[in-house]
Parts: sequence; structure tokens; C-alpha cells
Amino acid sequence: MRIGLTSTVPVEIILAAGHQPVDLNNVFVSASSAARQVERAESAGYPRASCAWVKGIYSTILDEGIERVVVVVQGDCSQMQAMVETLNGAGVEFIPFSYPYDRGAERLQRELEALAAALGTDVEAATSIQMSLAPVREKVARLDELTWTRGTVSGWENHLYQVSCSDFWGDVGAFESALDQVLGRAAQKEPVAERARVGLVGVPPIYSDLYEFLDGLGMHVAFNEIQRQFTMTPSLGADLLTQYQRYTYPYDVFARLEDIQVQTLKRGLEGIIHYVQSFCYRQIHDHLLRNALHCPVLTLEGDRPGRLTGRDKLRLEAFCETLEARRSARVGDR
Ligand code: SF4
Repeated sequence: MRIGLTSTVPVEIILAAGHQPVDLNNVFVSASSAARQVERAESAGYPRASCAWVKGIYSTILDEGIERVVVVVQGDCSQMQAMVETLNGAGVEFIPFSYPYDRGAERLQRELEALAAALGTDVEAATSIQMSLAPVREKVARLDELTWTRGTVSGWENHLYQVSCSDFWGDVGAFESALDQVLGRAAQKEPVAERARVGLVGVPPIYSDLYEFLDGLGMHVAFNEIQRQFTMTPSLGADLLTQYQRYTYPYDVFARLEDIQVQTLKRGLEGIIHYVQSFCYRQIHDHLLRNALHCPVLTLEGDRPGRLTGRDKLRLEAFCETLEARRSARVGDR
């Protein structure tokens, strides 16, 4: 059975139960009808001033005929919880999952067990799946490493394969074969000449052409923060409970800030683009991020799915010029 996900949850449990995970975010944003999906939700009564991801997922559940959805009711956002309530009576079964704010081991373990019981499996079986997924996750970690060490994997490829670790396309074998091909191609390429390295932090962007546009400006996205968290590669080798305790996205912002600081230094990032979604509470974290970082930060706000606006492009061009000027000044100082 296809099990919809509104956010990254322990996919090992869904696979252990013999179901096919479907990340509704990825289905929505990659659909050619994504903009219409948002409008459809607004026609059904959703406010204009609400998150487009939530509206898109609402329509995607109905369009795809998804009958069971695991919804994160603590650690994602309250808009998603309200979305679930608007589908009351539509024949969709929702299975709640919570990431306790304090990362408490006992509470999180209970959540893992409850999710496993709801899907007809247990944590032991999920642990076996976790072990079988480890080689795939290691390959994704390799892909990420090639992105920033040699530049032979593009920022877009890095985004795509990392963001897809929430559900492995519902077919781990197909995902791994495609990943092998990208890694094979990357191994054949010469390291890419030095370009401005930037990090993209915050929720995955809703825009379809952001990576392409940055590439055209000569900016290489060498770090996709939240997408990397979705891969669980920062906790490779840990047990299932620890893996989901170390996952930074659903808890407080401070572990995220520390991760961004470490990766900014490690990857030699020259600037950070903080993507924020219109009407998302996570926008409030922007000033904490700016205070925590010692490099230029551009905050880019997106609303609807589709292409960058003219204003976004102008701001990205100006940001690129700033990074280039700092780079030239550094060369001049040597
Ligand atoms: S972008 Fe923000 S408001 Fe929208 S679904 Fe994600 S967490 Fe919720």
C-alpha cells in the first residue's frame, strides 16, 4: 500500500511493514500541475496567506488517491496539522507521528513503536531495514562529498538525491541504480574549476529553476542543509533511535545553527542563501541565522511553485556580485 508522508519520518518502519513510502512534498513540487494544485486548495477554502506546500499537499493527497498518510504533528508545523483536519471525512486515514521537542529517548522510542504498531510491524524489523539501507545512504554521503570536494556533482543533483531519501522514490533499487549512474559520471569528470561556493539553508525551495539560475551566475551550491538532514547520513552507524534524535530539522533551531556553522567552515562556503517559505513560522529563525554566521547571507522568500521572479533574480545577481567582489579583494590581499 502507498503510504503518504508530509515530512521526513522513519522510512525504515514503512518499508519494514511492506508498504511503499510516498513523500507528498516531492510528488507535489515535481508535478507540472503544481501551481494549479495550490489554486485548487484555495478554491476549496484555504487562505491565500497560508503555506503553498500545505495547499499543494492537500490537493496531491486527493489527486493521487492516497488513503493512508503519516503526518508529523509535532516537529513540522501546525499548518500541516490543520490540513489533515480539512480532509476529515474524505476517506483518508492519518497516522500521527511526533518528534518530542526535547529529543527525549523514551518518548521518541514510544513514537517509533506506535508508528510501527499502526503499520503492522515492529522496531526490530525496522532496524533490519535500517541496516540494509546503510550502503545506499553511504553512496548518498559520497555524492554529497563529491559536490563540495571536487564540484563534479551539481547543486541540483545534490538536492535531488538528498531530498529523495525521505522515500527513496518508493523503490530503493531504482533509486540506487540512478544514484550509481550519477556517481559513475561524477567519477569520470575532471574537478570543476573554482567557483563561488554557496550553501542553501532552510526548507527546500519551491522554485523550479533556482539551481539552474545560480549555476548560470557561476555560483556552486556546495551545501544543501535540510536536504542533507533528510539523508540521515550525518548519523550513519547510529541505531534507529539515535539516528532520529540527531536529525536536526524537527527540533529546536540550535542544532541546525551548529550544523550550518560547521559545514560552512568545512566546505569553505563564501555565502549562504537562506530560503524561506512565505507564511512559514521558520522565517522567524532568519535573524538567529544571520547572527550565527560570519559570511554574507541572502534571505530569499518563495511563495508559489514555478520560476524565480524578476526581483529574485536581481537580488541573486547582486549577491553573486558581492561574493565576487569579496573574492577579488582576497586575491588582491595575497
Ligand atoms: S514550509 Fe513551513 S509552513 Fe510550509 S509546510 Fe514546511 S514547515 Fe510548514
